[in-house]
Amino acid sequence: MGHIYLASPHMSEEGFEQAYVKEAFDTNWISPLGKNVNEFEKELASYVGAKDAAALSAGTAAIHMAIKAAGVKEGDIVFCQSLTFSATANPILYEKAVPVFIDSDYETWNMSPEALEKAFEKYPDVKAVLPVHLYGLPANMDRIMEICRKHGVPVIEDAAESLGSIYHGQATGTFGDYGIFSFNGNKIITTSGGGMLVCNMEEEKAKERIAKVRFWATQAREPARHYEHKEIGYNYRMSNIVAGIGRGQMKVLEQRVEKKRQIFDYYREHLGDLKGVSFMPMHEGERSNCWLSVCLLSEESKVRPLDVMEALEQADIESRPVWKPMHLQPVFAGYDYVDNGGVAESLFTGGVCLPSDTKMTGEDLAGICRIIRGLWG
Ligand SMILES: *Cc1c(COP(=O)(O)O)cnc(C)c1O
Repeated sequence: MGHIYLASPHMSEEGFEQAYVKEAFDTNWISPLGKNVNEFEKELASYVGAKDAAALSAGTAAIHMAIKAAGVKEGDIVFCQSLTFSATANPILYEKAVPVFIDSDYETWNMSPEALEKAFEKYPDVKAVLPVHLYGLPANMDRIMEICRKHGVPVIEDAAESLGSIYHGQATGTFGDYGIFSFNGNKIITTSGGGMLVCNMEEEKAKERIAKVRFWATQAREPARHYEHKEIGYNYRMSNIVAGIGRGQMKVLEQRVEKKRQIFDYYREHLGDLKGVSFMPMHEGERSNCWLSVCLLSEESKVRPLDVMEALEQADIESRPVWKPMHLQPVFAGYDYVDNGGVAESLFTGGVCLPSDTKMTGEDLAGICRIIRGLWG
C-alpha cells in the first residue's frame, strides 16, 4: 500500500471537470462569474431541492453570509453546535455576535434537541440556530425545526460535510432557512475550494435573500455606473474556473456517496466485533453520505484512539480524532455552553476518523482492518 489519505480529491475518470474548465478557457470566461457559476448554482439547487443557491469562495464564506442574511447583528446570541469544525463558529464572531454552544446527543452525534430547548429557556431572544450534519450524519431536523419554528428563530444548517445525505426523504441543508455546503479539498466532492449557500424558504423570499447574498459577496456594489457603496461588501464569489470543476464533480457525486457508504459498511463488518468498538449511528429513513467513517472506542476498551492513529501512521495511513468541541477551545473560552451530559466531549475522547478516501481499494481496506485488529491481539 502507498500513502493512504483520510479523504482526498477524486476527479471523474471521464474528465468532466476538465471539459467544463476548458470551455471556460475557450470562451475566456475565466472570471468574473460566467456560465459555469450559474449552472453550478442551478445544478446544486436542483440536486438538493432548494429554491435558489449562491456559489461562494468557501463554505466558511457561506456561513458568514447566512448569518448576515438571517439578520444577526453585533451582540446577538447564536446557538451553535459545539461538536464541529471551528469554521462553523468563527463567522458568528466575524459579525461580533455571541455564540452559545450546544451539546450533542448519542442518537445523532449532532445538536441535542433537549439541550436546545434548555438553551431557549435561558436565552429566549436568540437570533439564529446553527446545527451541523457532522461526518454526513443527519441532525434531528424534525425536532430542531419544531423547536425553532415554535420560537420563530431562523435555522442555518451547516451541511458542509453532508452533501448527498438524506433525512426523511429530504436533503440535509434544505430544512432550515439557509443551508451551506463546502467543496474544500477533502469534502465528498471538491472544487479545490469553494462553498454554496442554499435557501429553501418560499420562492420569492429565497430569490430575494440569495440576490442579497450575491450582492454582499461582490463588494456590495450599488447599481450605479460609478462605484457606489451603502453597505460593507465582501469578495466571496466563486470563480468560473472553480465552478467548472464543481459541475464535473456533481456528475460523480452519487458514485462517491455509494463508495463512502461501502467503506463504512466494510469497517463495520470487519471491526464491529472488536471489544469496546462501535460505529457512528445510522437510522431507518436516513441516508448518510458517510463522508468520514468514524468509530468509537468505549472507556473499557484498552485500545485508545491514539493507539489506532499511531499504528496507522506507522504504515503511512492517515486518520484523525473527532472534532474537538468548540466549548473546549481556548479561542472560545468564556462563551456559554449548554450541556447534555458531556456527549460532545466523550465523542471527542473516544472517536477515531478512519481513512475514508474513495480511491481506496479492497486491498487497502483489508490492510487497514488488519492493522487495527492487531491492536486487540
Ligand atoms: C469544511 C467545513 C466547513 C468550512 O468549509 P470551507 O469550504 O473549508 O470553508 C464548515 N463547517 C464544517 C462542519 C466543515 O467540515
